Amino acid sequence: MNILLIDDEPFSLKLLQRQLRNAGFDRVFGFEYAREALAALQAEDARPDVIICDLQMPDLDGIEMLRHLAQAQFAGGLVLISGEDERVLQTAQRLAHAHQLHVLGALHKPVEPRRLTRLLEQHSSRVPSRNHNPRPSYDAGQVKRALQQNELINFYQPKVDVGRGTVSGVETLVRWLHPTDGLVGPDQFIATAEENGLIDALTKTVLQQALTQMKSWRETGMNFQVAVNISMDNLVNLEFPDWLADSARDAGVQASSLLLEVTESRLMRNRLLVLDILTRLRLKGISLSIDDFGTGFSSLAQLRDLPFDELKIDQSFVHGAWRDPSLRTFFDGSCNIGRQIGLKIVAEGVEDQSDWQFLREVDCDLAQGYFIARPMPAEQLPDWISDWSRHPN
Ligand SMILES: [Mg+2]
Repeated sequence: MNILLIDDEPFSLKLLQRQLRNAGFDRVFGFEYAREALAALQAEDARPDVIICDLQMPDLDGIEMLRHLAQAQFAGGLVLISGEDERVLQTAQRLAHAHQLHVLGALHKPVEPRRLTRLLEQHSSRVPSRNHNPRPSYDAGQVKRALQQNELINFYQPKVDVGRGTVSGVETLVRWLHPTDGLVGPDQFIATAEENGLIDALTKTVLQQALTQMKSWRETGMNFQVAVNISMDNLVNLEFPDWLADSARDAGVQASSLLLEVTESRLMRNRLLVLDILTRLRLKGISLSIDDFGTGFSSLAQLRDLPFDELKIDQSFVHGAWRDPSLRTFFDGSCNIGRQIGLKIVAEGVEDQSDWQFLREVDCDLAQGYFIARPMPAEQLPDWISDWSRHPN
């Protein structure tokens, strides 16, 4: 594993270098100047697997470094170190995530060698050989063809009742089963679909598949609510509520088993139209959830104006809220608002045992996240449910 270490304090740099070598990491390249490290990064033959970077550097600070790494499409692991307080380190970590950099962890100076080597060992065991190629993106023609060839399939991620431990529903998450590239995630094709007028067809495909699936689950006695994601930006068709209610009826599925998770990615162009459509969906018995609450445009104004049934607290306010007082404040605040207007509260981003334990101690109805289950194909769900009901976490 190639490790690139950047720290402007020569003593601290040498110390870390020695500690890493003692721990068995022998290809450690140390730099006192961030600009030199960046130049080394451009040399294709010795791309590092991990970069350990101090946030305070005189020539180029850690935040600028993150930006350069994102531009260079650095796909390896990143460890941030800093002598500043916890919030600076956390903000830098969030910034790195936003740049889609893969952050292994953030450590305080002086760095505890055991914590650092643990992060590196976890990384090397998880990613034996990292693929540095950026993920492919697809053009409108390819996405259109995928729709025509029925290559889009739904995965389903369970939502569980925190108090009772039972499965209350699933969220539908679309995947593209690409003939040569394998399983492709929505972040690689949804934007293309939105920009090229294909999102309506895509959303309808996902909904139709979900309805068919709900029918066959019902026939085997699995009755739960199925959520489908929808963006307000795409709600431009007044026929949509009727289309959905008719499709549900044709599939033999009750409208009340269907939930739409609503997000907004840009400013709404036509507020009145969206209000009309969402309200009529509600009148037809379809439930509405405000998704990723607390981020982007998923705001208090939406909550005030639209007839939601459920509030999904964004994962960035859930994961780690048990140990971070400021996250905890935002989490509690969101719960309180939701409660007071009578909404069901869902926490996204339950990634570990501590998150799950935290949710069991606060006032939250449902939970969802990798710790409970990853999104899975429909046929894996019955087995997962029987496992979960035997050993709920
Ligand atoms: Mg969602």
